[in-house]
Amino acid sequence: MNADNAHPNTVTRHDQHGRWPQAASIDDFRRNLATVQARIEAACARVGRDSRDVRLLPVSKTKPEASLRLAYAAGCRMLGENRPQEAHRKWEALGDLTDLRWSVIGHLQTNKAKLVAQCAAEFQALDSLRVAEALERRLQTEGRALDVFVQVNTSGEASKYGLAPGDVAAFLRALSAFPALRVRGLMTLAMLSADSARVRQCFVRLRELRERLRNEAPAGITLDELSMGMSGDYEIAIEEGATVVRVGQAIFGARSTPDSAYWPVAHDAPI
Ligand SMILES: *Cc1c(COP(=O)(O)O)cnc(C)c1O
Repeated sequence: MNADNAHPNTVTRHDQHGRWPQAASIDDFRRNLATVQARIEAACARVGRDSRDVRLLPVSKTKPEASLRLAYAAGCRMLGENRPQEAHRKWEALGDLTDLRWSVIGHLQTNKAKLVAQCAAEFQALDSLRVAEALERRLQTEGRALDVFVQVNTSGEASKYGLAPGDVAAFLRALSAFPALRVRGLMTLAMLSADSARVRQCFVRLRELRERLRNEAPAGITLDELSMGMSGDYEIAIEEGATVVRVGQAIFGARSTPDSAYWPVAHDAPI
């Protein structure tokens, strides 16, 4: 499972952004979920992994409530949302679906920590102690705990969210002071590029960082999870060790909002 023996030719599908058909029925969602699951299994088989070690997190951002209800009917029990307000609004609107859980996967400001503490079971974009403090305080008030992933900037793009890889060890040590935050692992967004070698390099970097940190992680912090890969690149991420893939458009259909509304896009991106 390294860049030499794995599959350098596995292509990204970033050049097909905008071409995912809209899922408009339960059957559409069932079919899309089955297609993605089959690709997850094929990617696992290529590198000798067990596909039960990869969790598919469907990402529903920008999609309307009706569409989320279809996804639920097709079997989805956890949904990923990038923005805290949107996650909270949908959590309230879909409150009748009592076993539906929410993962917030996008940047959080301290003044929105309360929303995440109320509605989310998981937060994947932790990258500052200020946010950790704000979440801890709100979670204590709510009497809740939260699974968290530390977001790492593996692409080296200055404007991206996430900690520099060299800052993660100290950050993890500091996180042991926050009992309501259960650290599960690391999360990254690869460079959005049609060049699969550059995308793969981001995933390799996250995996290698996790291997280094595992040995020195503070007691009580396990780094079992690697959240990496989205519609355009999840198969590459799985070849490099992803345990969570965050897939939106390949399940729900294309978004009209460009990705640049959520994070800065690399200059060589073809879209
Ligand atoms: C939107 C989003 C995804 C999913 O992207 P798709 O192209 O829809 O698969 C993954 N991760 C994050 C952080 C996102 O905001």
